[in-house]
Amino acid sequence: MTPRIETRAMSDLPRLTTPWRIGALELPHRVVMGSMHIGLETLDDGGEALAAFYRERAEGGAALIITGGLAVNAEGRGGVDYAVLTDDAVRTRLHRVTDAVHDAGGRIFAQLFHAGRYAVTGGAWQAVAPSPVPWRAARGEVPRALAEVEIAQTAAAFGDAAEAAKAAGFDGVEIMASEGYLLNQFLSPRTNLRTDAYGGDGPRRRAFPALVYAAVRAAVGDGFPVTVRVSGDDLMPGGTSPEDSAEFALALAALGVDALSVGVGWHESTVPTVQLAVPKGAWVATAERIADLLAPLYPEVPVIASNRITDLRDAESVLERGHVDAVALARPFLADPALVARSFAGEHSLVNSCIGCDQACLDRSLTFQPVSCLVNPRAGREVRFPVSLERRRRIAVVGGGPAGLAAADDLAKRGHDVTLFEARDHLGGQFSLAARIPGKEDYLLTVRSAEKRLRAAGAAILTGTSPAAEDLAGFDGVVLATGVRPRAVAIEGADLPHVLDYETALTRGIPAGTVAIIGGGGIGVDTAAFLVEEADEKRRADAFAARYGVEGAAEFARSRPTRALARPRSGSLVTVMRRSGKLGDGIGITLRWVALSNLRDAGVTMLSDLDYRRITAAGVEIAHADGRIELVPGETVVICAGQERNNPLETEIAARGIRYELVGGARDASKVDAVRATGEGLAAARAITR
Ligand code: SF4
Repeated sequence: MTPRIETRAMSDLPRLTTPWRIGALELPHRVVMGSMHIGLETLDDGGEALAAFYRERAEGGAALIITGGLAVNAEGRGGVDYAVLTDDAVRTRLHRVTDAVHDAGGRIFAQLFHAGRYAVTGGAWQAVAPSPVPWRAARGEVPRALAEVEIAQTAAAFGDAAEAAKAAGFDGVEIMASEGYLLNQFLSPRTNLRTDAYGGDGPRRRAFPALVYAAVRAAVGDGFPVTVRVSGDDLMPGGTSPEDSAEFALALAALGVDALSVGVGWHESTVPTVQLAVPKGAWVATAERIADLLAPLYPEVPVIASNRITDLRDAESVLERGHVDAVALARPFLADPALVARSFAGEHSLVNSCIGCDQACLDRSLTFQPVSCLVNPRAGREVRFPVSLERRRRIAVVGGGPAGLAAADDLAKRGHDVTLFEARDHLGGQFSLAARIPGKEDYLLTVRSAEKRLRAAGAAILTGTSPAAEDLAGFDGVVLATGVRPRAVAIEGADLPHVLDYETALTRGIPAGTVAIIGGGGIGVDTAAFLVEEADEKRRADAFAARYGVEGAAEFARSRPTRALARPRSGSLVTVMRRSGKLGDGIGITLRWVALSNLRDAGVTMLSDLDYRRITAAGVEIAHADGRIELVPGETVVICAGQERNNPLETEIAARGIRYELVGGARDASKVDAVRATGEGLAAARAITR
């Protein structure tokens, strides 16, 4: 059975829509939903939530899904919320998943996973590794080196897990040998310091992964697809060399692997791989190197490129280059389960784009919280928020920022009669501001696609309109999502003409000259990036490649249509100040370090632990914790001191007895948190129609 998708306008994706094979398995198109840990794998619900999550993606056209990592044994779990494939209860749950995907016309592979030294054990067990080499985030926990006998047992565990996967109805397995997990650790001379049969030179470092492959193949037999996720580049000094990676890929092909999916980077690498600072398609060249190597010798082994591709038109361009056979995307399937169906129907503008923020996915998965998506808060919660309509209601949503759009999108999708009011002349709210920051241009895509979907669903969108409470009396309910406004500061001189709030600064631009930024949270850091980051995507990609020494990282971005933000540059000294606490507080863990190091490299001065004394015509006078007084130069001073609620309607609406839900910044402006805002928008859309 093939996924039920429309392909009436597939002419702009001719290569992606061409059938292909992984071993004996025929697939109708070349888009793979890549592996993501969802955090639902251990939920004791009989597999209902996980099955619903994958079912919706298969219904949306994902012809081949790779599960998140399923541990081959208990010590191989990435953390406490990882499932062990050979557990009976897990297998039962997974059977429900495979049934759901098959029922929706899709295929699904189990990813066979062992975290090795990347296991976050919380002291519940000791992580294992080729050698006792710890990593930074393990907080002093040193992994135990596997004894030779345990190496054989671990390989056998991969075989057992593969057998369990086959019994649970999976259509194939992917062995995880990339991204710094156990097999990758054995391959790398940085983490494999062994001197026995499993360490030393390249062939011996490859011995354990080869043993794993043999165990898996023996367990599932010849006709069952077995693929391997290989590392195209560890991005680690002293890690696996390109020659070693090439030898490993060739060895797997010689052993009969059915396909190779190419990953990149380790968790502890200082090169960002999937964050929004990474150019689109940065790692395509890495996969192409492996594909070019295999093509003359093993043309039957397809190679799959992945990472930092969010749009299927880009995926088509990747195939057009003529090297790899398919493209895997992961987070874009969180953002839009119907990514394939919409794109194949030529409805690219309706696709809810992944904006690369990591806030509800990677950041949560690293802290063992269930994964969702900032732009699609239903992700991972499909059972709790089914798409159904009991009784059509007439709902007003006031505010077209992230929370309002999430509410309106959900209401309209379920068939309610929606009127969206927005005071500005455009939708987007804080997303529109964010989209002015270089690297965050995609924030505008999610706003535009929401607007398109709303219009397609028949919603009325009234921009430039601020309704009074009496205008809302005829609705069955109102979602108040009027957002936030910049908070003013009580500092002497804050009313001087060269002092701007962040909204004005980002909207109208900042005159050339020195800039002092008061407030070093997420918005302060963004405002500094607005001033110093390269606005042209192509030049930014070149800068990324040069900075990290990654040959080819800008190649694909250079071939894309130009996107350059128009904005004035200060061309001068920028200082970000924070009274106390961490600079960049509020930015997610996966993005903060990249954002701060970019600013540092761009020469931005960052100061904290200080008091603001006064703002003068020349800048901001501050007192350091040690008593030193300094004048921070600022021909322009930008206030990024947080927000306050903008909630002009609630009192009167309540007085009139109109049913309402209050969401996002209008409810609580204490922290910039778009994940909370969109989640509340969704919850309000449900509550107001009950
Ligand atoms: Fe993409 Fe952000 Fe959603 Fe993650 S949370 S899938 S990065 S939009």
